[in-house]
Amino acid sequence: MHDLVLKGRFIIGGHVLKGSIGVDGAKISRIALHDLNGRKTLDLRDHIVLPGLIDTHVHLRDFEERKKETVESGTKAALHGGITAVSDIPNTKPPVLDSKTFEKRLELFRRKAYTDYALSFLMRDNCEEARKVKADFYKAFMGASTGEVYSENFEADYSCSPGVLSVHAEEAELIKEKPQRPPEVEERAIERALKVARKLRKPLNVCHVSTSGGINAILRENLPWVSFEVTPHHLLLTKKDYEKNPLLKVYPPLRSEEHVRALWGNFSKIPIIASDHAPHTVEDKERGSAGIPGLETEVALLLDAVNRGIITVFDIVEKMHDNPVRVFGIRGRDFEVGNEATFTVVDLKREWTVKPEEFYTKSKWSPWEGRKLKGKVVMAILRGRVVMEGDEIVGKPEGVRLNVHRG
Ligand SMILES: [Zn+2]
Repeated sequence: MHDLVLKGRFIIGGHVLKGSIGVDGAKISRIALHDLNGRKTLDLRDHIVLPGLIDTHVHLRDFEERKKETVESGTKAALHGGITAVSDIPNTKPPVLDSKTFEKRLELFRRKAYTDYALSFLMRDNCEEARKVKADFYKAFMGASTGEVYSENFEADYSCSPGVLSVHAEEAELIKEKPQRPPEVEERAIERALKVARKLRKPLNVCHVSTSGGINAILRENLPWVSFEVTPHHLLLTKKDYEKNPLLKVYPPLRSEEHVRALWGNFSKIPIIASDHAPHTVEDKERGSAGIPGLETEVALLLDAVNRGIITVFDIVEKMHDNPVRVFGIRGRDFEVGNEATFTVVDLKREWTVKPEEFYTKSKWSPWEGRKLKGKVVMAILRGRVVMEGDEIVGKPEGVRLNVHRG
């Protein structure tokens, strides 16, 4: 007799398994093709059960920007969107540039996080502090985004980062000349980052790749220690959408169709899809802040793409679970007996309309407002407990820090 039994269709290792999962405590204790007995049973046969999805690029603000988002509102938004673990990006106010601020961030997540989390540390000429903190990953900006902090010596910051370095690749010098940030601003930064990566041979993750030149350069180099992310907004929106709606200002900017086509043309080779959830108040957006909220739409947009025959549900699991786990060294998350019973449950057939007023994020707008989507996240299970069901967050902030292998 298990504590909990899930009955349904499960995506495990690139296959669909029809059967039952036994859960005891926080862990998966049995995977079976037949029915299992449980003190509690969840009949999910109309749904699909995915391993708990992970978003490797999320800005949760808080600290002095609680108006824009808090760890509480942002991680509730994540659960609502089917994300069971988030990677926090450190360009907060104040930024996470020293061990004291890192400890504060950690304490905040311990008290307030509804999802599991990985915490990062911002690299900028602060090697000593970086070695002290034992962050789950590190972040560098080659040019400023929100928060103005960027590396003056990218190679030195990359070289001394003690773990995986996620990099925002836009050239600071070129941004000064070309504030509209045309494709070359990213393409040149990516080429420079790759050149350093070839020399240093240590883990690098290029964030939100948006250009044809950028993705092609990474794929051409094909360095096994270099990974990259693409956002749903760079896949699904273009520069034309921005020209119609100035709220779609984001760094790197939305691109012309030629670049969007290059991303889709290489879709199978994109390792990670991450939202770059970047919440601002609507007033701040109207004043020109860059960033798009994405936590509550990303999985649904991908499910809708599955329904339109563009991608498969296996792509979602690969790019939002399997590869994040591999690239960032996250342990205990594979869909296996003995691992954490953390799942994202989706209904591929459910049709719904995007209504930002129903979001948990404080950023109550969306590029997809009013859009009808087919496919919805209906439940999230965190270590054996249902924590989100039918748009409701159930329970307390029970997120824990991911078990990251730090080199
Ligand atoms: Zn970002």
